[in-house]
Amino acid sequence: MTIAQKMKVPVLMYHSISDDRRWLWGHLSCPVNTFEDHIHTLAVKGFAAVSLQDVYHHMQYGSALPKKPIVLTFDDGYLDNWVYAFPILKRYGLKGTIFVNPDFVDPTDKLRPNLDDVAAGRLVASSLDATGFLSWVEMSAMETSGVMDIQSHAMTHTWYFSDDRIVDFHHPGDPYPWLVWNAKPERKYLWLSEDQSLFVPFGTPIYAHDKALITRRYFPDPKLADFLAEQVANQGDVKSFQEEGWRDTLQKLSLQYRSQHQLDGHWESEEQYKARVRYELGVSKEIIEANLRKRVNFLCWPGGGYNDTTRRIAKEVGYLSTTLSPRDPRWPSQDPGHISRLGAPIVQLGPKTLFRGGRFLVYMLYCAQGMRQYCLARKSLSLLLRIQLKIESIKGNLPRIYRLTYHVSHPSE
Ligand SMILES: [Zn+2]
Repeated sequence: MTIAQKMKVPVLMYHSISDDRRWLWGHLSCPVNTFEDHIHTLAVKGFAAVSLQDVYHHMQYGSALPKKPIVLTFDDGYLDNWVYAFPILKRYGLKGTIFVNPDFVDPTDKLRPNLDDVAAGRLVASSLDATGFLSWVEMSAMETSGVMDIQSHAMTHTWYFSDDRIVDFHHPGDPYPWLVWNAKPERKYLWLSEDQSLFVPFGTPIYAHDKALITRRYFPDPKLADFLAEQVANQGDVKSFQEEGWRDTLQKLSLQYRSQHQLDGHWESEEQYKARVRYELGVSKEIIEANLRKRVNFLCWPGGGYNDTTRRIAKEVGYLSTTLSPRDPRWPSQDPGHISRLGAPIVQLGPKTLFRGGRFLVYMLYCAQGMRQYCLARKSLSLLLRIQLKIESIKGNLPRIYRLTYHVSHPSE
């Protein structure tokens, strides 16, 4: 069988499945009702969920697939994948793949309640707590059921400083949770359920940064951070950020300090960088394999960050295939070593559903598979959504987050 004869299997990307969208990256949460409508519609339309292994075998060796195959993937290992996604998939006879980071795994050894407990009448839905990250026992239970396949999302999912240029300072409510993750990795699994901002002193400089896997890490001299933290503490700590121009003040203090002191920042070497990438990719694979007693063959790049070095090392440590960013010119690819994914559409506006999410999803899938009439239908729904968003926006009813959601979910639009 030639590549051209092989089926294009849509691979959908989800993250969190939750109605709580108040967290830093809440635009990644697909509301539970929208998700259930997606899954219900896929089942009714006769889609059959397959694993990445099935797709790889099909692409590599031409093995058979069901008539309407689809892969459902979930990134980051959120607890809500166990609480909501897993029971819903099970109910409709579909299955999925979760990409997890060992660094974020919750150490609990008890299964936390999920929708199955609600269905069995053991508790009410409103008492479910889905905030946090998956544990090994939950992953193991999902694996055993055959509904969820656990694969790797590398080890840390973090960002590192890449340069000695200061771009901001750690302050209350800032968007740099990785600063705290790097300081206390043992608390990463609690990131969504506790305020960790004080693990690092306010005023700590935020240098230019990038995704951990694609940057040579820069280690600043800690003396400047100590000095700025002391200044901020003397100015009333949290209160000092209420004053206008606090960034300029801290930038001036940094410049002054740098002109008066010899600072000793340095970059990791190319060898150290490669060893770190090897650890991220190889050790995450080994840890998941040991905990779940299985082979891990697939890797999802955190934040879509990869380069030629990381791709080469991924192959060397034994991954069969890795994800391909929609920004990559090779996307979509028919190469079994690349997993081209589509962002799952999250088209729900608060409590007012514009139209059923499942219909939009199915049109999107048919269009992606080359059925042009559905592209038109999808575009019409998309236009309807944009008009509705505009009206809501003019009325002042539109939180910024919903506009973000639409863009993040549809990088191709
Ligand atoms: Zn991720």
